[in-house]
Amino acid sequence: MFVRSWAAEPGIEFAQRPSEKNPEPEMRKVCPAFYGGAMNVHGLTRHIPEAVAREVRIRCGFGCISCGSAIYQYHHFDPPFAEARQHRTDGIALLCSGCHDMVTRGLWTNDHIALLAKAPFCACAGYAHGGHPLEVSPEDFAVRLGPVTCRNLYLLSLDRDVVLILEPPEQTGAPFRLSARFYDTRDRLALMIWRNEWQVGVGNYDVKVVGQTIRVYEAADQVALGLAVHPPHNVIIESLRMLHRGYRIGISPQQVSMRTPSGKEVFTGFAGEIAGVPMILGKDNLSIGGNGIAVNNWVLTRRPE
Ligand SMILES: [Zn+2]
Repeated sequence: MFVRSWAAEPGIEFAQRPSEKNPEPEMRKVCPAFYGGAMNVHGLTRHIPEAVAREVRIRCGFGCISCGSAIYQYHHFDPPFAEARQHRTDGIALLCSGCHDMVTRGLWTNDHIALLAKAPFCACAGYAHGGHPLEVSPEDFAVRLGPVTCRNLYLLSLDRDVVLILEPPEQTGAPFRLSARFYDTRDRLALMIWRNEWQVGVGNYDVKVVGQTIRVYEAADQVALGLAVHPPHNVIIESLRMLHRGYRIGISPQQVSMRTPSGKEVFTGFAGEIAGVPMILGKDNLSIGGNGIAVNNWVLTRRPE
């Protein structure tokens, strides 16, 4: 059998793969994919130190500098990553995958990115957004407040101020429509959802979208809101520390608590399910259901059979 030798082909030469300990700089420049893009010719890795990454997020307003999407990647534009010796905050920008692709394909230059970075979308608009609506089922949808499942919960309001509303589908086959306004412990709007589309304000301390979870930080180690999306049936408020007009709502994976402006704890939910009723947190009590029954200390302790 005749085995063709590629090495014998004229014009084709094989370079020996350099050892990782002693990388060949030119090889990295010519073929970064050879190294998995993990390190550039100057030995700089893709890992951006957290302090630098947060400064980039703040400057870009937690979203793509072109379209405002909060689902983004970090892009080195000045200089490009291949030439960078360090991760400089003013040479890195947030770009969503679609906008990043425009650069990768050569349809946008880094000069264009530098121009966008001077007036990022989110800094101008005041918010970053989810890019696409949340995927919500048309048939079966529940909002989980920590361990408490709210199925077809049409309303949670503080007196007349709506915090969370789940509207039924407009027509058969259309999704439920979730709207919400979450505040931090200083009564500043942290995240807003309007009919399945979410926005975070640029005034937050930090915002991170990791996998299916959106976390809004009030301080370095203080999460104001942790919201997980499990499409198409659940949105889960994993954690919330909220104050709004004197009302306090605390949610952790283990417990939900609601307090009135007078400091009265009117709801403690450890696990359970609330179906098809509005919850209205009033000045002194919580009313559950549309029939006007008010309760002063409603404790939900176990999941109904
Ligand atoms: Zn974009």
